[in-house]
Amino acid sequence: MKLATLLIHNGHEVDGATGALGTPIYQTSTFDRGPEFRAGEAVPEGRLLYDYARSGNPTRNALEEAAALLEGGVSGYAFSSGVSAIASVLGIFQAGDHIIAGEDIYGGSYRLLNTYLKRWGLEHTALSAVNPNTVRAAVRPETKALFIETPSNPLLKITDIRACCAAAREAGILTIVDNTFMTPVLQRPLELGADIVVHSATKFLGGHSDVLAGIAVTKTAELGKRVHAVQNTYGAVLGPWDCFLVARGLKTLKVRVEAQQETAARLADFLSRHRNVEAVYYPGLPGHPGGEVHAAQADGPGAVLSFKTRTEEQAQAFLGRIHLAAPAVSLGGVETIASYPVRMSHAAIPAAERDRLGISPAMIRISAGLEDADDLIADFGAALS
Ligand SMILES: *Cc1c(COP(=O)(O)O)cnc(C)c1O
Repeated sequence: MKLATLLIHNGHEVDGATGALGTPIYQTSTFDRGPEFRAGEAVPEGRLLYDYARSGNPTRNALEEAAALLEGGVSGYAFSSGVSAIASVLGIFQAGDHIIAGEDIYGGSYRLLNTYLKRWGLEHTALSAVNPNTVRAAVRPETKALFIETPSNPLLKITDIRACCAAAREAGILTIVDNTFMTPVLQRPLELGADIVVHSATKFLGGHSDVLAGIAVTKTAELGKRVHAVQNTYGAVLGPWDCFLVARGLKTLKVRVEAQQETAARLADFLSRHRNVEAVYYPGLPGHPGGEVHAAQADGPGAVLSFKTRTEEQAQAFLGRIHLAAPAVSLGGVETIASYPVRMSHAAIPAAERDRLGISPAMIRISAGLEDADDLIADFGAALS
């Protein structure tokens, strides 16, 4: 079946116990051990599906299985946030291990690697350009994984997933891909050679800016076991109600992503022709660096773009004058969001370092929502002029 069908028919579309269309919210922390246990007898193998909600919950299980199916993986895991999904996946490694990552990965992932996990002895190398050559050059005997994110934030830089996964495999290391920006609707890294995919489900998967959640999907059952052991040990699991919200969001993922992408493409085109805009960063625009690689590994440019006004004052004025986009962090919701990286996601990075990375104070990142594209263009046009 195609992805649009899998979003609706994932094995959990009808509740086995009641016939309800969808998985009930099993708001429970624990589960009765059953008649054999009460009678002091051995509990037959496979009788107890659940024992305690940190190790498993039916609502979470339904979401985890749906996520695994959509990414083309074997096992899925739902976490309390995107960063806890990433931290739990990196938790399969140990002190002395080494990770290779892009230097422009999500700020929270960078902080995790650069401060917290470093204290626990997990070393990493941050690459300014992630390609097979830089990956091969960074591999050490103790290297265990490559961690990539493409397109990147906020410059929408493209990494060749296939080529990097091949280089990683040759070197005997795993590849972990943060697929938050693309979603399985547009990009399926496991099919391109990756071993683990992670998501901030807070963004497109949930899709309504009303829940914080993370997902990890593994290509093999063996990796799944390792991630599940960390999930059960750290306990950063997603609660049943929040699992319901993400599962509900998934049903409309394809129509949302496609409609938002169409609007993003129109905004990118409009902005690229506006006199007060110096540059637009969007994989769908002709000439975007890595655009061909992106087109070969993804089914569309996505719903996130960035642009640079001619001056810092213009960027600030734009944020003050738009009415149809909230100045906020986050992305992937039904409402258009305008982020200002230098004062939001990248505020902690020293200005000189931001300059080196190409993150200008005149740069704004847009996550296109489901508003009418003409209305957004009119609003942005008025604010820019
Ligand atoms: C938001 C985000 C995260 C972190 O997810 P949270 O749900 O905020 O913890 C990780 N990666 C990317 C690409 C993100 O955009």
